[in-house]
Order: sequence, then structure tokens, then C-alpha cells
Amino acid sequence: MTDLRPRNITVDRPRQVLVIDWLDGVHCEYPLSGLRNICPCVQCRGGHEYMGRMVEPAELFESPPPGVSTEVVGAHFVGDYAIQLVWADGHDSGIYGWSLLRPLCPQDNPQPSDGSFRHQVMK
Ligand SMILES: [Zn+2]
Repeated sequence: MTDLRPRNITVDRPRQVLVIDWLDGVHCEYPLSGLRNICPCVQCRGGHEYMGRMVEPAELFESPPPGVSTEVVGAHFVGDYAIQLVWADGHDSGIYGWSLLRPLCPQDNPQPSDGSFRHQVMK
């Protein structure tokens, strides 16, 4: 999975999602508000001691604090390993690596459920 890269990335502003088509054909749509919520920069993580914390897929469906912009005004590739998003309030220090984004893919992560699916599988 370490060399997994996007084939195509689109910021779909009308739908407020970041669309990533990965090289292996998986299609993922990340809510922009959730991406801002999980902004991986030091400032948003609350300090260096939190930088290694794992992000839960559910956090992608939570909103950032009030007053924090969820409007993307720019996006830049960082090398071949990440994308940098620029938000309308000027915040641009979040570097979203492929290794961060891929495991959070909403289309790859079943939504939290009551466990009934597992019961069906397990009989
Ligand atoms: Zn940030």
C-alpha cells in the first residue's frame, strides 16, 4: 500500500468533497468539512505531542469548530506523496499525505453500524 497513489484528484466545490481516484481503481469522496476537521498540521492537532495520533474515519464526518473555514480555495501537490489544501480563511499548513487519506476513504470504510452486518456474516 505504500506506493498507492491517486490517479486523479478533484476538488468538487459544488458538492463540497475532495474526489480521489486511486491508481488501483478505488473512488473516494472526502467531505471538505471533515478534511478541515482532521487537518494534520501542528496547529490543528494541538501540538507536536499529538502529531502521531491516528485519525478515526468517523472524524471525517465531524465538523471543525465554529469560525473555521471549510471552503477550499486552493490545492497543491507536495512532491508525489501528499496534497496541500488552502482554506478560505488563509490556513494552508495542512499536508494531507496519501498514507493519511487512503485509510480514511469513506467508500472503503463501512459506516459505523450496530454490528448487525457482522452478525449476518458470522451467522
Ligand atoms: Zn491545520
